[in-house]
Amino acid sequence: METLPNEGWAPPIESVPALDPGRILDVALRIWARRLRAPTIALCALSACALVVDALLVEPDWIEVRRSIEYVPALGPNAADLTVVHLSDPHVARIGKRERSAVALINAARPDLILISGDLTLRGARAADLEAFLSALRSRYGNFAVFGNHDYWDRAATTWGPEAVRLSGFTLLRNSSRRVLCPAGRIVVAGVDDPVTGHDSLRQAMRGVTRRDVCILLSHSPEIAQDLGNWDIDIVLAGHTHGGQVRLPWIGALYVPPGTRDTIEGWFDVRGGARLHVSQGLGWSGFPVRFFCRPRLDVITLRGGRPPDARPSRSVIGQS
Ligand SMILES: [Zn+2]
Repeated sequence: METLPNEGWAPPIESVPALDPGRILDVALRIWARRLRAPTIALCALSACALVVDALLVEPDWIEVRRSIEYVPALGPNAADLTVVHLSDPHVARIGKRERSAVALINAARPDLILISGDLTLRGARAADLEAFLSALRSRYGNFAVFGNHDYWDRAATTWGPEAVRLSGFTLLRNSSRRVLCPAGRIVVAGVDDPVTGHDSLRQAMRGVTRRDVCILLSHSPEIAQDLGNWDIDIVLAGHTHGGQVRLPWIGALYVPPGTRDTIEGWFDVRGGARLHVSQGLGWSGFPVRFFCRPRLDVITLRGGRPPDARPSRSVIGQS
C-alpha cells in the first residue's frame, strides 16, 4: 500500500504562532473602544449641554431659601424673636422669573425687617423695574438698603437710584442709621455707603447709635468687618461675593472679589464680638451664569440670649 507524504498539507508545529495575552487584550480593548466611541462622545456632549443649560437657564433663577437662628446677647433672653430677610446683590435689570420668585418667597417668610446689602442694579437697569421689585416686598417694621459698587459703576447711585428706592418705600442708608420700633427691643439699622468705591464712612453711619442699642450694620462688602473700631455693633450683613457665582466641585469658587476669599458666604465671628453674615446673593454680574451656587435668600431669626450650644467655630476675622 502506498503511503501519502505528509509534507505540504500539515504545517510543522513550530510555525503555529504563539498566543500572546497582551496582544489579545490590546485587540479586545481596541474593538471595545471603537464600539463605545460614539456613545461615549454622545454622553460627554449631553453632559456638557446639561451643565451649560444648568448654569445659564436653571440655576440663575432657582432660588434657595436658607433659614438660620442667630442668638444676640444684647437683645436679652426674653425679647421677642425678630425675623430678618437678608438679601444681597439682586442686580435687578428687569422683572423676570427670578424677581417674581424672590418677591413671593420673601413675602411668604412674613419678615419683620427686609435688609438688602447692595448691588441693587445691573447695567441697563431701569428705575421702573427696580421700583417695582422693591415696592412689592412687605415687612412689618421696615425695609432698608445700601448701595454697592455696581450701583456706582452703572451710575444708578448717582442718577435715578436714590429716587427709585425712596418711591418703593425702602429706606436708603448712605452712612446713616434709623431706629426701628418693634417688640424685640431697641433695634438700630445702620448702613455704610459702598466701601468698594470708597463712599463709606462708618463714623457717620454710627453717629447717634448708643451702646444700649442693638445695632445691625449693612455694608455691601464684608471687608468692613476687618475693622469695626470700637463701635458697638452686634450683627454685620454684607454681600458682594455672590458666593463665587461659579463654583467647581473640589475646587470651589473660581473668582471672588479681592479681599473676600475668607468670607465667601455664611456666618463668621468678628473680633470684638460682632457676627458677620455674608449673603450668597440673588443675581449675577459679569456673565449671566450661576454654577453650583444657587441664588439665595436668607431668613434669619434673631433671638435674644446666648446660643445654647457652642457654635461651630469659623474663622475669626478682624484686627486684633
Ligand atoms: Zn454684585
